[in-house]
Amino acid sequence: MLQRMTKSGTSRYSFHYCGRAVDINQALGGGNGQRYFIVKEASGQQMYWRIYCKTANSSGAHIKALTKGQVKYYSFFNGKDIDIPAGNYVDLTTLIESSGKFERIKAQSGWEKDYNKTEWWHFQYIVAKQATFLDEMELIGYSEQQLRIAGWSNDAMLDHPPG
Ligand SMILES: [Zn+2]
Repeated sequence: MLQRMTKSGTSRYSFHYCGRAVDINQALGGGNGQRYFIVKEASGQQMYWRIYCKTANSSGAHIKALTKGQVKYYSFFNGKDIDIPAGNYVDLTTLIESSGKFERIKAQSGWEKDYNKTEWWHFQYIVAKQATFLDEMELIGYSEQQLRIAGWSNDAMLDHPPG
């Protein structure tokens, strides 16, 4: 049964409902075995993220050597920018977006105080994106009535842009 998610950081119009969103493994973003080094990339008032994935291989397509501190990554645990360790990395964000089929999303406001709102792990499929949340949900088989029952209860919600 279709249900609205209430977890902090989950957009009411998330592309997860539409089956278009992918969340990569957050466990690789810190702690032992950290692979993802997540870099702040502000655009106007919005915050986006760029993910550098540390690789075991030193050469290969998309692999680039970085010196210590060549890039500052953001530590969600410490709340500050830190020198990236020297090593070999793939710019995962560029790689994912280079297909032209997936995009990253901006952090939700208040991300500094709520990790769930950072959304650094979230990518979504953008081919033939629909104009409204209702159009998106109809594409995967939900009816307007089902949406209304599940809590998208008025026209403004149904006509809201997805995402
Ligand atoms: Zn997501």
